[in-house]
Amino acid sequence: TNIVLLGSGAREHALAWKMTQDGARVHVLPGNAGIPGSVPGISATDFPAIQQFCQEQQVKLIVVGPEAPLAAGVADYFEGSDIRVFGPRKAAAVLESSKVWSKDFMRRHGVATARAWTFRSDQLEQARAAAAELQGHAVLKYDGLAAGKGVWVCASEAEFDAALTEMQALAPVGHQWYSFLVEEKLTGPEISIIGLTDGKTMRLLSPSQDHKQLLAGDQGPNTGGMGAYCPVPFADDNVLALVREVIIEPTLRGLRTEGLPFLGFLYFGIMLTPTGPKLLEYNVRLGDPEAQVLLASMSSSLVELITAALDGRLAEVGVRQKPGAFVGVVLASGGYPAAQFPTGFAIEGIDAVAPATLVFQGGTKRDEAGQLVTSGGRVLTVVAGGPDLEVAVERAYAEIKKVTFQDAYYRTDIGQRPAPELVG
Ligand code: ATP
Repeated sequence: TNIVLLGSGAREHALAWKMTQDGARVHVLPGNAGIPGSVPGISATDFPAIQQFCQEQQVKLIVVGPEAPLAAGVADYFEGSDIRVFGPRKAAAVLESSKVWSKDFMRRHGVATARAWTFRSDQLEQARAAAAELQGHAVLKYDGLAAGKGVWVCASEAEFDAALTEMQALAPVGHQWYSFLVEEKLTGPEISIIGLTDGKTMRLLSPSQDHKQLLAGDQGPNTGGMGAYCPVPFADDNVLALVREVIIEPTLRGLRTEGLPFLGFLYFGIMLTPTGPKLLEYNVRLGDPEAQVLLASMSSSLVELITAALDGRLAEVGVRQKPGAFVGVVLASGGYPAAQFPTGFAIEGIDAVAPATLVFQGGTKRDEAGQLVTSGGRVLTVVAGGPDLEVAVERAYAEIKKVTFQDAYYRTDIGQRPAPELVG
């Protein structure tokens, strides 16, 4: 199979690696310096250019990595053509792109989630009153896509006030008003449950956990994700059965009732609270860095799963996992996630990494001299497997030390969160 994959991060490197292992020929638009098959000239949201490329290369299948092309309507664009897109249409991608819409959807269909109130930007006083009712233990969520920067988890009314001020700075210029949510703050460990669906059947990948904050011990600013591991020991079959019952099934039913058949990866960001699993958010794509560990740990053919989903026969195909555990540690540029930090540093040592360990490149490019250099915040993800989490962690950290560039930074505690108290 000839496949076009849209995107350019370490998640897309993992997707390209996996589908190549499955025997596909993968073209990554635009990809990056580290992903074989990258086509740097074509942006993931330039649909006419993507279409022309597919025609020239006789590609009949497009797999989408990031949310941007989905929110921009890539699936709708190719609808009715002979090119199939594995990813939801724009109308379903709104599950991720609008937090207000997705909260209303959860409510309409009885999906377990935190209580929340919706406000417009001219209702700041009412929002303050709602936060006061929650004694300041409120979460403020800007409605639109904000690259992970539109959520403030507050512990007091003063913090909430400060968050409101920051949110106003985010608002798009030229819009008269925007919406936002005030949500009750929940407690408990978070898990990422990600599956593939054809709209009827949901095939879950291994449960995983992301480490979003910059510093060890989940301290410091939020990032795109500093590492992940799978499976999650406490997300056992009982927890997963409950998640299916109170979150996944109502979601699939709701999408069908509303005439929004969902095709693609669907990501459930879940908190295991003392009163059961609650949905924090949907993403309409694989997570990064979760994808890097999930794809490393999958023994089924991803191409076969995607093809089955496109044909509406996912019920006939199961997902098989490799035994043991997998951990992915992100090697980032010093200064990330600030708005600006230096890049362009030479990357050394990737070839020295043990062959069983995978290195997925995200923010890399080649300079004029052909040297591999850093070009972004999250430069690469090192993924190692082992018979258990402890061994996988040991291996990942032994290998990541071999890859070097100036001011390189990684968290030292990925996959080592203390076990949570039992929930539910
Ligand atoms: P992402 O960066 O994954 O796209 P996002 O910006 O879309 O995230 P959410 O996932 O909704 O936003 O929230 C980000 C984080 O804020 C969550 O991972 C969670 O840690 C915290 N959070 C969100 N909602 C709540 C809540 N109701 N109670 C406690 N914490 C919450």
